[in-house]
Amino acid sequence: MNSDNLEVCSRCGSDACFVNEVNENVKTYQCFGCGFQSNTLMQKGEEFFEEQIERLPNLHKELMGEDDDGKIWMPTTINLPEKGMVFADGANSKEWKWAAVKAVPVAEDEKEKFPIPGKKGKFYKWRMDMSTIKHFEERDFMEALSFIEVLPE
Ligand SMILES: [Zn+2]
Repeated sequence: MNSDNLEVCSRCGSDACFVNEVNENVKTYQCFGCGFQSNTLMQKGEEFFEEQIERLPNLHKELMGEDDDGKIWMPTTINLPEKGMVFADGANSKEWKWAAVKAVPVAEDEKEKFPIPGKKGKFYKWRMDMSTIKHFEERDFMEALSFIEVLPE
């Protein structure tokens, strides 16, 4: 069973928290109000959680916070090869913003610069154009998504 529902976010209080019931034991939460995500496996002491945080950048570790139910929230990273990326960008949890970067098609004469690892003779068709980077305040996560055209303006 797979059902999607909107709930009130227990982190920011917006009503734009998308809840997905993966199975009877696992739920995932994606809030479009604050841009943070959580799931029922992300609890302190859980092996899954400890494994996940080890691989995270420091900013993400600093931004992770527990809500009243013990759920851990962390900033969402969006990476869509043909659209762009949205990610938390900054020096620390007090000085950060959402960064959005647009994907652009790779031109025929530059494709050699974008080989697909492990696939000889294959090249990426899209690349992230870092010159398009634009920063958004935490509460403007949805505007960042609109910027890379994941959401309508
Ligand atoms: Zn939220």
